[in-house]
Amino acid sequence: MGEFDGLVAAVTGGASGIGAAIVAALRERGARVAALDLTEVEDGVRVDVSDDESVRQGISAVVDRFGGLDIVVNNAGIGAQGTVADNDDAEWLRVLDVNLLGMVRVSRAALPHLRRSGAAAIVNVGSIAATAGLPQRALYSASKGAVAALTRAMAADHLREGIRVNCVHPGTADTPWIGRLLERAEDPEAERAALEARQPHGRLVSPAEVAHAVVYLASPLATSTAGVGVAVDGGMQDLRLRPR
Ligand code: NAD
Repeated sequence: MGEFDGLVAAVTGGASGIGAAIVAALRERGARVAALDLTEVEDGVRVDVSDDESVRQGISAVVDRFGGLDIVVNNAGIGAQGTVADNDDAEWLRVLDVNLLGMVRVSRAALPHLRRSGAAAIVNVGSIAATAGLPQRALYSASKGAVAALTRAMAADHLREGIRVNCVHPGTADTPWIGRLLERAEDPEAERAALEARQPHGRLVSPAEVAHAVVYLASPLATSTAGVGVAVDGGMQDLRLRPR
């Protein structure tokens, strides 16, 4: 018996990294879960969150397969590096289309089903970049700051419809995404060690740790929690332990 027995969840970006950990954590606790991703995985639905038709078909496919939808985790996201001087309009629109509008499209398609749930929750995956003022991450940070604002606005709009909306803000998490960044370094092992040393708790965040926060926010344990952002960042945001 799990706290998600009888509930259906859709997790965008569920084929890799943090999303895959969220899929596993919800399944372990009894949910029936579909991973909505560009990459097709077992029990998944191929969805491109930057394409409204693809999203609507994907949500319909989940509802057809499982008979309803109770939990949406908007996790799919892509990175961008540089200052405002480095990315042109097309790059801004490409990243916002996935990181921000992707969440809007999935939520819009899911809302009619969530309203019927009785135990509905949306959890958005933001980032420490939403508030940390990270250098060389203007576009990515703006996209995640928008996710934090969207979360609060959606929480206000939908709480009385029985849908709780919350957000998690991971710090640097040990996923294929970070693996790809490290591979580009001259000395990936040294770069990884330096990255770990920059974390207040001396290591990267694990995808499972992020998934635990998502599980809590999506679960019946959090029925009076709405509009919050939970940092899962080893204290990066809130402790004065950043490397001197
Ligand atoms: P990842 O690259 O390992 O996985 C991302 C998944 O999203 C992939 O399976 C990819 O196919 C999917 N995806 C990308 N674009 C998509 C689209 N248009 N439609 C559907 N699926 C799409 O990344 P991750 O590290 O697991 O990151 C997941 C989320 O966590 C992202 O929103 C990211 O911004 C956020 N995050 C990650 C970190 C980190 O350090 N890894 C830190 C903070 C926030």
